[in-house]
Amino acid sequence: MTGQSPIRERSAILLIYTGGTIGMKEDPAIGALTPFDFSQILEEVPELEKFAYRIDTHTFSPLIDSSDVEPSLWIELTSLIEERYDDYDGFVILHGTDTMAYSASVLSFMMEGLSKPVILTGSQLPIGSPRTDGKENLISAVEIAAAKDEEGHALVPEVCICFDSILMRGNRTRKINADNFRAFRSDNCPHLAEAGISIRYNSSVIRKPKDWNARPEFHKELDTRVSILKIHPGITPQVVRDIVCSKDTRAVIIETYGAGNAPSKEWFTRLIAQASAEGKIIINVTQCMAGCVNMDIYATGKCLKDAGVTSGYDSTTESALGKLFHLLGRYDDNDIVKGYLGENLRGEISK
Ligand code: ASP
Repeated sequence: MTGQSPIRERSAILLIYTGGTIGMKEDPAIGALTPFDFSQILEEVPELEKFAYRIDTHTFSPLIDSSDVEPSLWIELTSLIEERYDDYDGFVILHGTDTMAYSASVLSFMMEGLSKPVILTGSQLPIGSPRTDGKENLISAVEIAAAKDEEGHALVPEVCICFDSILMRGNRTRKINADNFRAFRSDNCPHLAEAGISIRYNSSVIRKPKDWNARPEFHKELDTRVSILKIHPGITPQVVRDIVCSKDTRAVIIETYGAGNAPSKEWFTRLIAQASAEGKIIINVTQCMAGCVNMDIYATGKCLKDAGVTSGYDSTTESALGKLFHLLGRYDDNDIVKGYLGENLRGEISK
């Protein structure tokens, strides 16, 4: 469903509504939260009119709780932005918070060479609730999506998450709080912008396209044959074998301790080496919120490196997953994928 607002034209923003808490309001008739019609967005958030932007809306059907997000939604979002790319200055995606970091991560890989912002936001409280964080999040996201420099170039041509007055690179984020308004963090990457009295942009961190006039590449092939193995004390050979040796898996993300360490037991290293020798990609990311994998520091990390494990550097799990879905979708050869895993493609690793 697409609605056009009658507002005087200046910048044009496409506001895409996928679902999540932000788009709910209490229906007094039934006393429960229900999604509201986003074509009426300017009635709900009249503050947006002050910008005098053209804000068009696109509502997905069905609207989802983001726990139900599937790759098909990412493909639909990418196709929509590809089709409407020339018509707008920026895109704002309203999305549930639970999987927003996953969606922001994978979308950053699906859209290569962006010259316009794609900003995800949502809220912890519905937009219809008196103390909602949704209005501020939405207003900041729209303002940032429309922001340009003197030459008319977007200030933030990246896939980002805007939440609680901070703008973060999407593929660096994690949801870290189920209750309070600071729901996301980006520990391994400085904020791209902060909204205070004015919005301060951290332009030295923000990525720019090589050629502002080139159209981005939109990649819609995803291969989801990826598993995640979280290491923990007491983990058994059966569990490790089931995950890393599964025939249906092309790649395994191992969430390790600290700087990339895992048990040094013989059976563990043997299973990892076996999977790696069979051609599987095994990538190491840390369970820590911040910092980087370095498999050369401890013997327990060195064992993984010797077994053929690839470093995920300071990648989040969400980002490693999105990067793998994208790379496996593009390349049938796991060795090519391994090569790209070591490259910083969209600012997702500090390298
Ligand atoms: N469960 C909701 C979702 O992710 C939570 C939210 O929107 O904050 O869709």
